[in-house]
Amino acid sequence: MSRRFEWEREVAVRAVREAARLCRAVAAEIAPEAMAKKDKSPVTVADFGSQAIVAHALASEFPDDPLIAEEDSAELRQAENAAILERVVGHVRAIRGGHGEEIDADEVCRWIDRGGAGDYCDRFWTLDPIDGTKGFLRGEQYAIALALVLGGEVSVSALACPGLDAVFYAVRGEGAFVVPLDVPEVPGPPVKIHVSARKDPAAVRFCESVESGHSAHGDAAAIADRLGITSPPIRMDSQAKYAVVGRGEADIYLRLPTRADYREKIWDHAAGAFLVAEAGGFVTDIHGRPLDFRHGRELADNRGVIVSNGRLHDQILDAIRELQIV
Ligand code: AMP
Ligand code: MG
Repeated sequence: MSRRFEWEREVAVRAVREAARLCRAVAAEIAPEAMAKKDKSPVTVADFGSQAIVAHALASEFPDDPLIAEEDSAELRQAENAAILERVVGHVRAIRGGHGEEIDADEVCRWIDRGGAGDYCDRFWTLDPIDGTKGFLRGEQYAIALALVLGGEVSVSALACPGLDAVFYAVRGEGAFVVPLDVPEVPGPPVKIHVSARKDPAAVRFCESVESGHSAHGDAAAIADRLGITSPPIRMDSQAKYAVVGRGEADIYLRLPTRADYREKIWDHAAGAFLVAEAGGFVTDIHGRPLDFRHGRELADNRGVIVSNGRLHDQILDAIRELQIV
């Protein structure tokens, strides 16, 4: 069988894997005192380092492809952030060092700024270099999320979840897969993942953000109540929520608006939503509309996100309507 997007998939998986190694290296340096002092610099270092690694990998292989990513280097270039920049460069060198490149600060900033595209076009990548920054600082779930959007549709995605020791990826029409985050000595074949078939409310489990500012926990509880779901929510940071639905460990992921003016960012959903769709699940916004990646950096035409194994999707949308969640 001829495989589409084989090179894109390979580059994407390799890039998020390298970025995840960088994030883990930064995390390993976090001193317990830093946690107590609420020092957020590790996530800043890992965020910029991760974006530099992925943006550079894409620029090397697909120099004409724009990248819509979360960060830019403006702040990093300011004099008061020189120490942070130095740490970023050190970590990028440690990952890229084996490639025999001379890497300086200016170059790292230029790599980061390759992610500055903002307008929709026919072919682009979107990246969240660290999704779930709070999870990263807590030592829990976070993700490096990368997706290729073609003609408004995600076609390839790669999602590294260090907290799950896994890289998930999906290719349009071929399905969704998981491989170990650390490349094993003898790499095995990728394992296909699939959403669950669960629909008995007594057995169904749903996930949501840890942060109540990112998803309305009260509204989710009201929906669960209507559907007769009795298990407490699984709270988890980042697009790891999409991964656990994609591999059938949970059945639903609810992301319910907390503010009238917030629009979801494309990099928070493109990779994960496509993974679940290729794993046989269903993703819409709270009004049942498909996610529309044709509006630049935001899902301007969508509100919230509803993810399911497909079995209870209509019931969730009905409950949202009845509860008048907007
Ligand atoms: P999570 O880890 O699922 O809680 O989501 C983390 C993401 O939430 C971040 O990458 C932010 O882009 C995004 N975010 C920030 N503010 C909001 C908000 N008010 N509603 C929804 N998502 C948000
Ligand atoms: Mg994010």
